[in-house]
Amino acid sequence: MKLDVDVLRYLSKDDFRVLTAVEMGMRNHEIVPSDLIGRIASLKHGGTYKVLKNLLKHKLVHHDSSKYDGFRLTYLGYDFLAIKTMVNRGVFTAVGRQIGVGKESDIFEVSNEDGTVMAMKLHRLGRMSFRAVKSKRDYLRHRSSFNWLYLSRLAALKEFAFMKALEEHGFPVPNAVDCNRHCVVMSLIQGYPLVQVKQLQNPETVFETIIGLVVRLAEHGLIHCDFNEFNIMIDDDEKVIMIDFPQMVSVSHRNAQMYFDRDIECIFKFFGKRFNLSFEECSDDIDDDESSRPSFSSITKTAGFLDKELAASGFTRKDEDDIQKFIEGDVEEDDVSDGEHDSELCQTNIKGFDSLHLDQEESTSRCNEEGQVVENLQSPEVGQRGDPESQNLSSNEGDENDDTELVKSLAKQRRRAMAAARKGHHKNSTSRNSYKDKGGKSSNNSKIQKQLASW
Ligand code: ADP
Ligand code: MG
Repeated sequence: MKLDVDVLRYLSKDDFRVLTAVEMGMRNHEIVPSDLIGRIASLKHGGTYKVLKNLLKHKLVHHDSSKYDGFRLTYLGYDFLAIKTMVNRGVFTAVGRQIGVGKESDIFEVSNEDGTVMAMKLHRLGRMSFRAVKSKRDYLRHRSSFNWLYLSRLAALKEFAFMKALEEHGFPVPNAVDCNRHCVVMSLIQGYPLVQVKQLQNPETVFETIIGLVVRLAEHGLIHCDFNEFNIMIDDDEKVIMIDFPQMVSVSHRNAQMYFDRDIECIFKFFGKRFNLSFEECSDDIDDDESSRPSFSSITKTAGFLDKELAASGFTRKDEDDIQKFIEGDVEEDDVSDGEHDSELCQTNIKGFDSLHLDQEESTSRCNEEGQVVENLQSPEVGQRGDPESQNLSSNEGDENDDTELVKSLAKQRRRAMAAARKGHHKNSTSRNSYKDKGGKSSNNSKIQKQLASW
């Protein structure tokens, strides 16, 4: 999906105010009625409709008049809100080229004021084949109320929380810098996905390191669940870094054994094929069953090991339950992605928005538990606030107070992470991540370092 950040620079305060009003309205409306958008935005001199027309022109909102006149946010609109928040927080000041297209994400380079280049992952749950989307929609309709924006936000929050926790336990993962809505900013890995690597100096060592990681994850109570050559990066020194965490599960999950075996099997298969490894030789010290694979049952596992760290990032048990419900709707689906971004399907919202809590906060990636918003949003004092961000928060004051500690600790973590990213990843104009990604679709979106600081 094209991310033309040029447009961002020309959007006015009113544009963002109205865009934010649409996002707020989506907490409990599939399509937000135009007059409600007007009431939430409360532009001083009216004219919300004119602003909506401008947003529509840039594809930041979608117009729907099938039942009544209304609008909903598009992924692009959601991207812009997240990017603006990141820029306001000082996380980055420029968006560069696209460096990866995942199954359900787009990855871009971003850089901050002092030239540190980082990676920004925009989650796009719902980017999959029609059949998969249809079955997910059916699945979700029978359970609770979700929409793709909410799920993408959850995926981002989960990824951020796990990356932080894993880093703190010494796992080789990118440094998690910040998270807002469906967007995660992390350090840029100077390496390549293993799938692109044709030769290794020490394939046995790399293989053993990778299998060792699966085992160590299990010891820490976790299974990656998508541990394969696409989600393992490797640098020129053959150092291994793992990525992509939204689907991780606990070792106490009912299918834990199957997920663990599948992760192990993927690695064995890949190394067997690509590097002609014969496993009897190189897996002696990790082997403990006759098939020479590490066995799940003989690993001493400590479930809940990372719980504290996960909670510290604002990722709750309910968040985990919600995202698992979605992921498990996936289990029977064999086709994962056709790689095409079908904007209509991606933006499909599921009826009933009680549990939709899109993140509004400037300072925390955590969300409010319930979307009891409509009345609050419609109350007159809402519109009198000067700034759309504070207006958004007007309906969530209780949560805000509850979250003071969390907000403080996240801000601290962010400062630390940015300092770490600064240390390790200074601008490298010849970034080696100019590869094609697994889908072979790495876009050549060579918008070079759009300066966004002028907002
Ligand atoms: P998805 O969840 O959609 O599969 P991934 O997290 O696996 O997304 O990322 C997709 C691709 O983007 C990866 O295969 C990798 O090439 C690239 N990528 C992701 N994160 C980074 C990073 N921190 N640094 C460099 N490249 C990255
Ligand atoms: Mg991936």
